[in-house]
Amino acid sequence: MLQSVILCVDDEPAVLESLKIELRRGLGQGYLIETAESSEEALQVLDDLQLRHQDVAVVIADYLMPNMRGDELLQEVHRRSPETLKIMLTGQTTVEAIASVVNSAQLYRYISKPWESHDLLLTLKSALAYYRQQQLILAQEAELRRVNEELKRLVEDQSAIIQDRTFELERANRQLHRLANTDSLTDIPNRRFFDEKLQQEWSICQREQQYLTLIFADVDYFKAYNDTYGHQEGDVCLRLVAKSMQTALKRPRDLVARYGGEEFVLLLPNTETGGACAVIAEIQQRIRDLSIPHSGSKVSGWVTVSFGGTVAVPLSPHSPSELLQIADLALYDAKEQGRNGYVFREFP
Ligand SMILES: [Mg+2]
Repeated sequence: MLQSVILCVDDEPAVLESLKIELRRGLGQGYLIETAESSEEALQVLDDLQLRHQDVAVVIADYLMPNMRGDELLQEVHRRSPETLKIMLTGQTTVEAIASVVNSAQLYRYISKPWESHDLLLTLKSALAYYRQQQLILAQEAELRRVNEELKRLVEDQSAIIQDRTFELERANRQLHRLANTDSLTDIPNRRFFDEKLQQEWSICQREQQYLTLIFADVDYFKAYNDTYGHQEGDVCLRLVAKSMQTALKRPRDLVARYGGEEFVLLLPNTETGGACAVIAEIQQRIRDLSIPHSGSKVSGWVTVSFGGTVAVPLSPHSPSELLQIADLALYDAKEQGRNGYVFREFP
């Protein structure tokens, strides 16, 4: 580390010389003692020191000097380097002059001329100790700021990482949830999802005393279809039928799920028989539009579907399983009645 500088300024060379000698003797080798014979020269010296990044701990300036007085110089020093300690040497100075510089330049002390050697050294030693302490505090503050910034950066980095991980996890969870609730063949909701929804909608419609319609749909003579065209074609057929049903549903709470094999189930909350028939008609139309040949069918040359449903206003002690049972019976009726149509059974 560079030595701290003590700058002495006086227009009398003899005063400067004795200052220099006394300080060097009294303070030892730890300090660089610079001198200037005018305020202008002093400012020049300060500029040079600043260029060399050298610390100026103390400036001792005479009050009475030609051109720029000591108080003006110290004000300028204070402006440039507030932490430098300022000491003024005063001869016949008035109290007012000292008071003004105490405030404007934050004068550390003043020393009357001629000074006592002992006083001068004590003042300088106390000033230097004060200066070192100030420097230490500044350095600690800077270090504290640095550590704080570093910590802040680390916390931000960690938060960003956690945020990324959370996002990935959420996406994976959504994906898992979707997979767990989707039929892998037809890509529509599976029975698991349907069972959950049935319980939910039953509760909601029970609370609101609203109609809840449940319809089973079954592809007619599907075993014959597989026997005729093979299982791969059978899978394609089921996908097309599933898609037709799904696209026929318009309201967000309407649901179609694959119940198993060639059997699908429709759940239509807030829907009475009239609305349910309209949904069935829409699905039938879409399946007719598909025109999938079915030479094994005994009711048509094309793939057709039978529907059996029931409409309930949920009330205890009835349960969702009764809804399933009755719709299943209705589907049986539809098959008995020649397929490619629909039957509704009353809910008790
Ligand atoms: Mg003088």
